[in-house]
Amino acid sequence: KFNTNVGQHILKNPGVAEAIVAKAFLKPSDTVLEVGPGTGNLTVRILEKAKKVIAVELDPRMAAEVTKRVQGRPEQKRLEVLLGDVIKMETLPQFDVCISNTPYQISSPLVFKLLSLPNPPRVSVLMFQREFALRLTARPGDSLYCRLSVNAQFWAKITHIMKVGKNNFKPPPQVESSVVRIEPKMGSERPGVSWDEWDGMLRVCFVRRGRTMRASWLGSREVLGMCERNYRVWCAMNNVPLDDTPMNEGEEDDEMELDETSAPPDEEEWNGIEGDDDDTPAFFAELNKKNRDARKTPSKKRKTRVAELVKEKIRKVLEDVTELADKRSGKCDENDFLRLLSAFNEEGLHFA
Ligand code: SAM
Repeated sequence: KFNTNVGQHILKNPGVAEAIVAKAFLKPSDTVLEVGPGTGNLTVRILEKAKKVIAVELDPRMAAEVTKRVQGRPEQKRLEVLLGDVIKMETLPQFDVCISNTPYQISSPLVFKLLSLPNPPRVSVLMFQREFALRLTARPGDSLYCRLSVNAQFWAKITHIMKVGKNNFKPPPQVESSVVRIEPKMGSERPGVSWDEWDGMLRVCFVRRGRTMRASWLGSREVLGMCERNYRVWCAMNNVPLDDTPMNEGEEDDEMELDETSAPPDEEEWNGIEGDDDDTPAFFAELNKKNRDARKTPSKKRKTRVAELVKEKIRKVLEDVTELADKRSGKCDENDFLRLLSAFNEEGLHFA
């Protein structure tokens, strides 16, 4: 009856359902977004505490189940069921709090979606696969520290609330779970950098978190090509003239061995857990394509002085300004990344 391919593991322990709703500290005036209501075990409890529930459900059979559960009851009017994939919905109605026994396949995109909303929810209480929850809270140097950890903790306060064993679900999933609370930083606490720019930089830093910054930035054609393209756009927008003459024969220095196959990140590192469907490989494929398209212009066949200039700027940022060249991203903290972004921007290098 349940389709585990779309993460249908129904919470059968009422105590856990109660605890999840309690940990959201709902106000009677709240509108709550519930992702994946399933048969409605959380939904009915949220309706007791909040003004309204907007439930987004992918499976029409489940949407019908949860609708039926409140039919003819007073709370029927306070439940709105939207049929569809929450990740693909371009706009979501306004809501104050998000609660979800998350289908694990969408863990990563859901967190990114919630954090990057223009008006993020005050609180999100979400059930995740245990390892994903541990990634959200991992600190620099921890083995699970990754782009997700940096991003999540940069934009929000993350608290591990409770462990939930697999036998609390029907059918039981293969792994243990955890509930976390995510409270986005608001007002003056909210970092004053662009989401896309920050994440664009982290993507490069974390292609392999065991790599030094120097290797991540200067050892990959894709990354150098992207930086050059972005720099050209920035110069055009700021009326900065560019010396686009090709380099002379023999003048091209390649003191650093370029990693021809830099695109695919460590398979092991990224395919570890379900739901952490990091799109870094896709991101690199895209970079590759854009770089190839850019090179089709005849004048850009040879390496130009602009490429050299960009490379020198990156070297300067890493070695002279931030002194992060030999540090591995897995050991860098938020301050290191902030210094890095500001130094790149200072040189006209942007990532969004
Ligand atoms: N909330 C229920 C509970 O706790 O018993 C069910 C949770 S079950 C883990 C996840 C639910 O999310 C399923 O009903 C599934 O059909 C739904 N779902 C899966 N992918 C989804 C998506 N992309 N958007 C919205 N709902 C989704």
